[in-house]
Amino acid sequence: MNLILLGPPGAGKGTQAKEIQVRHGLVQLSTGDMLRAAVKAGTEIGLKAKSIMEKGELVPDEVVIKIISDRIDEPDCQQGFILDGFPRTLPQAAALDQMLARKKKRLDAVIELKVDYNRLVERIVGRYTCATCGEGYHDRFKRPKVRQVCDVCGGTEFTRRADDNAETVTTRLMAYYRDTAPLTGYYYCKGTLRTVDGMAPIGDVAKEIEQHLAEARRDG
Ligand code: ADP
Ligand code: AMP
Repeated sequence: MNLILLGPPGAGKGTQAKEIQVRHGLVQLSTGDMLRAAVKAGTEIGLKAKSIMEKGELVPDEVVIKIISDRIDEPDCQQGFILDGFPRTLPQAAALDQMLARKKKRLDAVIELKVDYNRLVERIVGRYTCATCGEGYHDRFKRPKVRQVCDVCGGTEFTRRADDNAETVTTRLMAYYRDTAPLTGYYYCKGTLRTVDGMAPIGDVAKEIEQHLAEARRDG
């Protein structure tokens, strides 16, 4: 199965992608994670993307399209993948259609996570991750069971994203509503859009997604 998780920053795409990855053996492909890794490694792409990401703006389409096209060709993606944070513009969506047709792959479902604006700000500003394994947490909504100890790997170091601050959040959310929100119309017209209430608790969102995946399997 090949899926897209669509939704604004903070909607819960990464959180749900990790759950689907475990349950269905699909690979999470987060362009945000890939770009952050490129920035950290100081590659040519990373150098180009760094200041754009710090401002909360979108990296040029051709950069992310190339990253995704190359990544989908890797062996671990042949069982299926979950796109998280891509596509984010109509040209990216059109390029994805073309690359999937070329690679003889199909898109099984586009799952949209709907969350109100105010809740998104709260989620982004309170987000942090385990520095060792990357498990995601939240100051209020998802705390580790033991304080300051990662549930998954036992790590005790945590990090916060440089762009998860109150100033950048507005720019990122504006970029979403301007450039990415039109994709819901794009996929609705193609008949692949499935909308989920992303305001619900993490486990309930996961259950609703499961129902949609079961339906998409049956329909496909
Ligand atoms: P995205 O990948 O869409 O930017 P994340 O999955 O990183 O969003 O979620 C943003 C923050 O909100 C994280 O700290 C996460 O723990 C928390 N979160 C995710 N889903 C929910 C939910 N349904 N209810 C409450 N908090 C959530
Ligand atoms: P994310 O981790 O999905 O919140 O993405 C973090 C940042 O990476 C975004 O604010 C953009 O600057 C950049 N980015 C990630 N994915 C894309 C994409 N598909 N198109 C353009 N920019 C992206």
